[in-house]
Amino acid sequence: MKHAPLVDQLINAFTCLPGVGPRSAQRMAYALLDRGRESGRRLGDALHAAMDGVQHCERCRNYAEAALCPVCDDPRRDASLVCIVATPGDVLAFEQSGEYRGQYFVLMGELSPLDGVGPRELGLDVLEQRLKEGQISELILATGTTVEGEATAHYVLDLAQDAGVGVSRIAQGVPMGGELEFVDGATLAQALKGRRPFDS
Ligand code: ZN
Repeated sequence: MKHAPLVDQLINAFTCLPGVGPRSAQRMAYALLDRGRESGRRLGDALHAAMDGVQHCERCRNYAEAALCPVCDDPRRDASLVCIVATPGDVLAFEQSGEYRGQYFVLMGELSPLDGVGPRELGLDVLEQRLKEGQISELILATGTTVEGEATAHYVLDLAQDAGVGVSRIAQGVPMGGELEFVDGATLAQALKGRRPFDS
């Protein structure tokens, strides 16, 4: 038996999502068609609105609905301090900490030449341009500690050094409330390397 063409089309459409294979896609399609027509319509509307209305901020590449995202558009944010992160989710994490008053640059990924992700795909030419403008005095690296994250961090470091801009890196290590015995060796080694005087 074959599905009706529209059902097939819906199932196929779901398989574009990361981690969703044909079977999960089929389950999702059935769930919406069986009991979720209203949610399905909302999903469709939200998809349409986001695909048409969301763009990348000209300055930081984060998602935005105007040329500038709310952070870049906020005059109270310190434009001399720019934190380099891999994803918009990382920005959210920093914002939720409530500690950071600088701006961001969102790479939307990490260098991975084998997957075709080079400096241009990450907008590093845009970052290079911003560094040359002279407004930035410090970059804070907050990319991951994977091989790709390290490669990205080193690339950004080179760009910053060429522009004479200082670079720092967020400390890596033991999570708050974490128990040492459950922390892996590499993380513990990083934490030890990043130790600082015990005065605050
Ligand atoms: Zn922005």
